Amino acid sequence: MDFNDTSIATLFGIVFGLIFVGLFLGGYALDRKARYVLWYLAGALALIASGLSYLLSMVTPHTKVFIALVEIGQSLGLIGLAYGFVSAFSIRVSASFLWTVFVAGAGLTIAFSGHTEMSTARLVTVSAWHAIVATYLVIQLLRVPHATFKHHFIAALVALTGLAIMARPLVAVLVRMDASLSPAEQLETYGLVVSTIYLTAVFGLAAAIFFHVMSELVTAYRNASLTDSMTGLLNRRGFVETVERITTPPAAIIMLDIDRFKSINDRFGHEVGDRVITAVGTLLDRNVPAPHLAGRLGGEEFAVALWRSEASTAVALAQSLRVAIEYELADQLPVEHTVTASFGVAPIGAGGLRTALLQADQALYQAKQNGRNRVCLADPKNAGQGPCIASGKSSIGVSG
Ligand code: GH3
Ligand code: MG
Ligand code: MG
Repeated sequence: MDFNDTSIATLFGIVFGLIFVGLFLGGYALDRKARYVLWYLAGALALIASGLSYLLSMVTPHTKVFIALVEIGQSLGLIGLAYGFVSAFSIRVSASFLWTVFVAGAGLTIAFSGHTEMSTARLVTVSAWHAIVATYLVIQLLRVPHATFKHHFIAALVALTGLAIMARPLVAVLVRMDASLSPAEQLETYGLVVSTIYLTAVFGLAAAIFFHVMSELVTAYRNASLTDSMTGLLNRRGFVETVERITTPPAAIIMLDIDRFKSINDRFGHEVGDRVITAVGTLLDRNVPAPHLAGRLGGEEFAVALWRSEASTAVALAQSLRVAIEYELADQLPVEHTVTASFGVAPIGAGGLRTALLQADQALYQAKQNGRNRVCLADPKNAGQGPCIASGKSSIGVSG
């Protein structure tokens, strides 16, 4: 067995390919929902099989068979990439187009398998085959509606990989022009040059894809740590972080707490209690207009942040939410029982969100003291005791 520079480069490629297989497997183990990583894995395995075939073409007498398998593995690698891109980058691919090109290309490659490795006709055919798939992927990446930097970046790397493949006939022509080399030396030089160019492009692409997989994972973890799984709203941490980051005055905060929730749990069970919390969450999600933001602070307590709004606007929204909870959630409990909530409203002033939350909490306490199912506005000048809009199925007046 003769290990020349080309076979060493190929071995190096296989080892790196296996490292990426391990990294993708690790990524998938961390998030089983990231199914697209499995397509990348399949693509990487096909490329490794292609590398192995190349190695076997050099060390076994079945050169031509393995050279044909190199191309088939490479094409399957690109197809794996295409399927991965469908869910990772929202590209659209036509499976029938991909597979038609695959069958045609594989057929032609087998037809050309009698030719030598450096045959121009063979190299032009197989390069054109892979170039069609790579170009198709680049176009689809660039055509994604609202394509961002990541789409363009990955498209550029796919284009580079396509160019690296297309360079093969050119490298073969240039190497053949060097008359000082024997045919065996020409083949070795050709093999070394094309594998180096190709491996550089492919590993650049693999590294970018892996970086993308990891950044998606981190985003998913981060979102999970900021979201309440029961209602899908932001949790306390997510709400506070988001509101602190983007509020500028005038802004206001609404806090609400479901009335006598403990007795709902006690009478109808914890599951009914959970359903009521979820229903309030859905109602807030539906009735709090963008860019205002709703969150679940914990238990049966929620908050809404209003942008570019005076406290009076927040009181009006709180009042409409109060009425919506009272009337729209009637079907959550048996007929004679109603879900209601009490509301405290405060402006977000110079003291920031934390102060506003304390003031809204005081107003909420006042709403509870005054009989629940009502909206109270914080009045820091009057020991937190501000005006309240009363409850009652029809009387919407100010009391308190
Ligand atoms: P008030 O009108 O004064 O707010 O009375 P309340 O009964 O609603 O308030 P209290 O704070 O006494 O009780 C809140 C209850 O909410 C206690 C707790 O067991 C229950 N709870 C907190 N989180 C959950 C949850 O996720 N699901 C359910 N089912 N119950 C919860
Ligand atoms: Mg309560
Ligand atoms: Mg409570």
